[in-house]
Amino acid sequence: MGQGLGRGTRGKKGAPMQIPERMKACLLTAVNQFEIREVPVPQAGLGEVLCRVRAVAICGTDPEIAAGRHRGKGWPPRYPFILGHEWSGEVVQVGPGVTEFQAGDRVAGEAHKGCGICRNCVKGDYTLCLNYGKPETGHRHYGFTVPGANCEFNAFSIKAVKKIPDRLSYVHASLVDTAGVAFHGIRLIGITPGGTVAIFGPGPIGLCALQIARGMGAGRTIMVGRGRRLRAAQEIGADFLVDFEIEDPAQKIMDLTGGRGADEILECSGGTDAPAQSIHGVRKGGKIALLGFYEDAKISGFPLTQVALGEILIRGSRANPNVSEDVIRLFEKGILNGEKIVTHRFPLEKYEEAFQTFKGRKDGAIKVVLEP
Ligand SMILES: [Zn+2]
Ligand SMILES: [Zn+2]
Repeated sequence: MGQGLGRGTRGKKGAPMQIPERMKACLLTAVNQFEIREVPVPQAGLGEVLCRVRAVAICGTDPEIAAGRHRGKGWPPRYPFILGHEWSGEVVQVGPGVTEFQAGDRVAGEAHKGCGICRNCVKGDYTLCLNYGKPETGHRHYGFTVPGANCEFNAFSIKAVKKIPDRLSYVHASLVDTAGVAFHGIRLIGITPGGTVAIFGPGPIGLCALQIARGMGAGRTIMVGRGRRLRAAQEIGADFLVDFEIEDPAQKIMDLTGGRGADEILECSGGTDAPAQSIHGVRKGGKIALLGFYEDAKISGFPLTQVALGEILIRGSRANPNVSEDVIRLFEKGILNGEKIVTHRFPLEKYEEAFQTFKGRKDGAIKVVLEP
């Protein structure tokens, strides 16, 4: 493989791109400390492509990782570290053994790449890789256990990048990972055509779930949340809005369904009371997908007898295995649309401001996207 300034490649859709030796990266240097620094541009290894990152969305887990709340999981494994896992960009160089991609391809990334060898990976359940967090086995969790996309270039396994159509913008393509999380949860429990789906949490995942549920033929959608985000759900087309600060979500769902309950509930909020409210709000024989991170120690009053007697299915859902191509097609068809979800865009240099905007939900921030 070429080195340094000689690493120019010819993009099929444009002029050859000179790959510099160094790039700008936003480094997490300590708890809640970020710094823009010049670092070497990585090389694409076996089965990898070097990508020019064009857009990277800030995820709800990023501020938690920055605050040091996930050190126990090895997120990040060390300082300094490059966060960022919801990205899109352009292939600028292919590594050895890569035939499916070429320089110039527009792509979206996903965060997980399994070891490919353990029993779960072999079955396709690579977000449940049994070698999680062991890079020496080939496992990667970009932006969590290995460097991510808050930088100008990174090398990614071709298993973790998917081509995107020309008409999907880089900014909206940075939602492919997030939308995939919603899609996977929905695929695990299904949607009853013509039925009632309730969604807790009108954040980026919940708003994508709303679009997908509508696209899959849900008869009625109920969004549970509050504030500006609830209004975004209305603009996207939720049939009913429930403000949990004003009314009891489970009771309201029961009222709206004639006392029957929702067919499916997608719990995307991670709220302490939301899992129990979901059980109270779902119909007998109904299904619940849990997509959040929960503060387990604070959760109580979980009505398990009701789960047993009502034959309620509760399904955990982790990330987005094997869904990116389907999700990209939904974006192409307009069933998924980033318009109401991406509210802010910043250059990489303004990371601090972007981060604060996202964390503080300033100016109605929902999804904040960086453009390195
Ligand atoms: Zn994420
Ligand atoms: Zn594995």
